[in-house]
Amino acid sequence: MVLVITAGRVLVVDEDHGDRAEDKKRKRSERAGDFGDEHHPGVDVSRLRFTYRQGPKYTSVVVEGDVIDQVKFDVGRSQPFEGPQHLDCRDLTLMPGLIDSHVHVTASSANLRMPSTMPPSLLYARAVPILSGMLDRGFTTVRDCGGADHGLAQACDEGTLRGPRVVHGGKALSQTGGHGDFRAAGDVALNSGACKCCDFTIARVCDGVDACRAAVRDEVRKGARHVKVMASGGVASPTDRLENLQFSETELTAICDDARNAGVYVAAHAYTDEAVRRAVRCGVTSVEHGNLAGDGALEALRDAGGFLVPTLITYDALLKEGAACGASADSLTKIGSLVSEGQRRLERACALRLPVCYGSDLLGDMHKHQSKSIALHLAAGVDAHHVLGSLTAVPGARVPEPRGALRSGGRLAKVAPRDGPPRGFVAPGALADLILVDGDPLTDPSVLMDEKNIKVVIKGGRVVKDIR
Ligand code: ZN
Ligand code: ZN
Repeated sequence: MVLVITAGRVLVVDEDHGDRAEDKKRKRSERAGDFGDEHHPGVDVSRLRFTYRQGPKYTSVVVEGDVIDQVKFDVGRSQPFEGPQHLDCRDLTLMPGLIDSHVHVTASSANLRMPSTMPPSLLYARAVPILSGMLDRGFTTVRDCGGADHGLAQACDEGTLRGPRVVHGGKALSQTGGHGDFRAAGDVALNSGACKCCDFTIARVCDGVDACRAAVRDEVRKGARHVKVMASGGVASPTDRLENLQFSETELTAICDDARNAGVYVAAHAYTDEAVRRAVRCGVTSVEHGNLAGDGALEALRDAGGFLVPTLITYDALLKEGAACGASADSLTKIGSLVSEGQRRLERACALRLPVCYGSDLLGDMHKHQSKSIALHLAAGVDAHHVLGSLTAVPGARVPEPRGALRSGGRLAKVAPRDGPPRGFVAPGALADLILVDGDPLTDPSVLMDEKNIKVVIKGGRVVKDIR
């Protein structure tokens, strides 16, 4: 099956103005068509200066199966390619599908305790419109940071459910009374009566090194592509404070150690400077939120090869609509100045050349605001290239090499890429996850905030939205 798309413009990732030696190395490997690495294919998240360029007018892209086969720039008004299916989009801009690096697709209410009273059929049924809405907004990949499982991911992959690719971490790990323990102070157990790991909320509770290691192994067994850990207090949890440090450093180190043994990285929910510092010290490479992290903590994350996932829109939406969507008054008072603090830290992260991946972290009916963090990023002073970069970078690229990487004579042995073809750019060999946009996201990324401007969405070479 061949699909031919002719677009008015195409956004291509041009070059990196980062470290020059790294640049040369990267250019060499890109020439060889080798983006990312065996374990985390995709545009390297450490590509700090995404320079998007508008290709010449009228570009044709030929898709074979789920991969881009050819890109021909400057085709003029002629139609150089033949194919059974041709999308004539000469008034639209072609770019990679968007990636949201922090979602909870099963969070159909802002009250995260609620799933413990739901039958699983209802929990997963309510994820269906959430997933479909994400695809309509142009997100072809989402990274779930607590709640989604292998079954939901597979249902989206095989087309049983209409939705983006779901890269999931299973349940987030929380200590007793931590950000993933949704019991109120007066509760002995959650309403479902389920054990600590089988409740249907977004997390599981584990205490002590052995239980933490067992939880990592169990989530990896169930297909987790990363391990999510609650390393500080949070907004939605009923009995902790935002500034709490959660898990001991011994537990965090054990979690990171077991994750690395399994070839996956650890993403930590962390707000304060100390929470981020200790998470990085213990081996975490993906920091979620980070609204109160100082320069030193952000630099430590950068130097560890990690990245930041700010989630500004969720606080903004909770302040405006949280009460109507089921959030408790107690949790809403925790938000305070998290939006403006987070914007300041985001601006510093960019200045310090810390890679940033876009995250929304929305709950319940607020999922519709998924793309609206773009405005908050722009208002924080982030330029269009960085905004587009954060929206298309694959989280997890260039995290520390897994210990068990297959080596032969000191060189990384070729193994089948675990996550399929590389993605996040428009070039031959890349996964054909693409969107066609009415407007120029390079001049004004905010055109991506209105799903009416996302005219066509292509996932794995198949047209899944077309409202031209
Ligand atoms: Zn969180
Ligand atoms: Zn979250």
